[in-house]
Amino acid sequence: SITTASLVEFGQRHVTNGLSRLTEDVIVSGEGSWVTTLSGRRLLDFSCGIGVTNLGHCHPRVSKAAADQCHTLVHGQASIGYHEPYLRLIERLLPIMPHPSLDSFFFTNSGSEAVEAALKMVRTITRKQNIISMQGAFHGRTFGAMAVTKSKTIYAHGFSPLMPGVLTAPFPYWHHFNAAPGADESELVRASLYQLELLLLQQTAPTDTAAIIIEPVLGEGGYVPAPPAFLQGLRAICDKHGLLLIIDEVQCGFGRTGRMFYIEYSGVRPDIMVTAKGLANGFPLSAVVARKELTDQLKPGTMGGTYGGNAVSCAAAVAVADVFKEEKILDNVNARSAELFEALISVKADPAIGRHILDVRGQGLMVAIEFASPSHSTFDPAVKKSTPANMAARVSKRCLEKGLLLLTTSVYETVRFIPPLNVSPEDLAKGIEIVKEAVEEIVH
Ligand code: PMP
Repeated sequence: SITTASLVEFGQRHVTNGLSRLTEDVIVSGEGSWVTTLSGRRLLDFSCGIGVTNLGHCHPRVSKAAADQCHTLVHGQASIGYHEPYLRLIERLLPIMPHPSLDSFFFTNSGSEAVEAALKMVRTITRKQNIISMQGAFHGRTFGAMAVTKSKTIYAHGFSPLMPGVLTAPFPYWHHFNAAPGADESELVRASLYQLELLLLQQTAPTDTAAIIIEPVLGEGGYVPAPPAFLQGLRAICDKHGLLLIIDEVQCGFGRTGRMFYIEYSGVRPDIMVTAKGLANGFPLSAVVARKELTDQLKPGTMGGTYGGNAVSCAAAVAVADVFKEEKILDNVNARSAELFEALISVKADPAIGRHILDVRGQGLMVAIEFASPSHSTFDPAVKKSTPANMAARVSKRCLEKGLLLLTTSVYETVRFIPPLNVSPEDLAKGIEIVKEAVEEIVH
């Protein structure tokens, strides 16, 4: 019989080295907020497969919808004809779009593929080439998506040349300047928008620039929500200069931040919105949503893909949308979020460990702790000296030993909480306790 040890050895021999892994254990099943490994461990999952299984693993309604669809039609192929789950899903999504103008849908398989399609769309629709993306952004692993990704050099290193015509604008965040509590965020927003205006004067003329793409909450860039005023400023700049605004809600969308889409906090109208991950709770599916008058400019056949809008994934996503409504998922996000913030802020206030924590931030159940870093130039020298190196990776590892899956993110010393959106108060408290213990053990 197969032992965990021999399977892991097999994996290490035959699975590409290009993937990194949090654990060498083999995950065999998942239920709700928990996964079970081949070695028999039960792990509390605050990773959700990187923000995907947002209704918990194997949500019965979603799994049943997918299983039923498997007996009706698996592969519909959207370039051959409409199929029912594709259209039903649009029917479910229309009323929850962050703006009523978003009424034209294109389903793809992954976040990267959706970003890629959005980049193609803005170029052909505007007949302009350049794209502005934001410092810290992650948009995916394909060549266009890599080109607009600015969160870690490793993602692009050695893969050039990427898609040309990409410029980078600053994303507003304070925490690295150790800003005093209550520092005036509007000053930072103003400065960031000014830099963007300068970019359009100095580096890429609006007449050469198709679009701005932004993750309204940086995900792989460190869980930094954009101030709503910044997003409003971006909209104004796009309107003033004739640029399209692409909002990437792949990680922060679909209820993660306590609204269906984070952009709702700003009231801003996206020209194109990209969403994926939680959309189908684990079945591969992503969506590029725009307004019809934009997508009417696309020539038939210029978009496509063999599997995009797969019938099983769409049926699962229909169930996800129904569960969101019927199980009042957003209410749970907001209630658990308040508990999570309260707990983490009290950890930060704890004199024994709080000084190693630079920042607790996020929105809804997309929350990060950033630890002080001994190599960071802006920190108080005493804290720098006493804070162990690689805090985030060490906390993540210690949490795993204690039975919690907790991911790191960004080039900063950051761990991120992405629990299921229907996590129970008890499981949330259990996870918080594990993180607290892990931090205490490491800094003592
Ligand atoms: N955009 C964002 C904001 C993401 O977080 C990700 C994935 N982490 C992607 C795009 C790429 O999605 P995928 O991995 O499905 O290609």
